[in-house]
Amino acid sequence: MALQKHDFERIYLSPPHMSGNEQGYIAEAFATNWIAPLGPHIDAFEESFAAYTGSKGAAAVSSGTAAIHLALTLLGVGPGDTVVCPSFTFVASANPVLYLGAKPLFIDSEPETWNMSPSALERALQDASARGKLPKAAVIVHLYGGMARMDELMEICERYGVPVVEDAAESLGSTYQGRQSGTFGHYGIFSFNGNKIITTSGGGMLVSDDLDSLKKARFLATQARDAAVHYQHSVMGHNYRMSNVLAGIGRAQLEQIEQRVAARRVVFSRYEDALGGLSGVSFMPELNGTRSNRWLTALALEGEDASALVQDMLFRLEEANIEARPLWKPLHLQPLFSEALFYPHVEGESPVCEELFRTGLCLPSGSAMSVEQQERVIAVLEHVLSSRSGRLITPLHAVPAIPKTSA
Ligand SMILES: *Cc1c(COP(=O)(O)O)cnc(C)c1O
Repeated sequence: MALQKHDFERIYLSPPHMSGNEQGYIAEAFATNWIAPLGPHIDAFEESFAAYTGSKGAAAVSSGTAAIHLALTLLGVGPGDTVVCPSFTFVASANPVLYLGAKPLFIDSEPETWNMSPSALERALQDASARGKLPKAAVIVHLYGGMARMDELMEICERYGVPVVEDAAESLGSTYQGRQSGTFGHYGIFSFNGNKIITTSGGGMLVSDDLDSLKKARFLATQARDAAVHYQHSVMGHNYRMSNVLAGIGRAQLEQIEQRVAARRVVFSRYEDALGGLSGVSFMPELNGTRSNRWLTALALEGEDASALVQDMLFRLEEANIEARPLWKPLHLQPLFSEALFYPHVEGESPVCEELFRTGLCLPSGSAMSVEQQERVIAVLEHVLSSRSGRLITPLHAVPAIPKTSA
């Protein structure tokens, strides 16, 4: 009988990778009964996080999404405002804009970073300026850990006086000319969701050099309680603080960040070595002078059959019990944002992010992935790609995880 999907151990896209020290910190929280959204682990996690990123301060919160919401709130975003956001990102980059009653203004990607296109941003701000209403803020994302063109993007935003929130949810440990992602904008945000490069199971961080604003963020994140013994409130707050137990996990995870980045980069290199030489296969580029944390290895195919091949790869990988994903579906194509404005990279040409969505995918990239696991993934991809040239790169019997299909 042919091997079935569940005969193979599942390989996940980006599973949590514990160091072993987490339990010690959790035990400490329990032993001291600091099972609350404040406590010594929170303080220590915030301090070590600020030190690692090179920010003046950091505020630990319940999610990356909460951190974006707080940042946009502090920048005064409100009903009727617009906020610039890349189209090619996870929906959480833009949802907080909606929470505040504002509208996202979507910007295309550019081909060399897959991140926000400076020329499209320039046109968007020119038009907004001509309409007499500039966006209240710009959210800039470093997708899959790859750095956006920060020199150009920051220059444009500064010239128009639009403050920047860096969504570095996927890019902890990525650098641009030696400087950490998340430290270029007025605010930077990070995520410790279960699939990110380090995790607290769920959580986020807001960083800034503006310590007064971080103080306000902590205030807003704890129901905005005025300084009174009784419960008094003058503004609307949220329940967004991280718990002290989870901050203990975060401390242990952060201690490993450089090893995690190194491991993800090794995973990326192995994929690139195995597949990068094949014609029509290209990996997400890394801009000169930057280091990507390679959170997820992302590739795109060229050629007429690119979209069909991506579908085939996704199907074959799933059949082999391997989790892979298409690249993010652009937000301007989402039903949720059907009304939003969108600026393509080159006017009149097909948007870069739509092309990437059609022709790309993310591969399993966990920092604990074994060489054997990665070879299983590569074998499936080589098999699919070999159908392209009619040349069998990998003999079928050597593809360990593809059961025969009857269809
Ligand atoms: C994960 C992610 C977020 C949201 O982080 P959560 O902690 O899951 O709320 C925001 N933006 C991007 C680009 C992300 O990948």
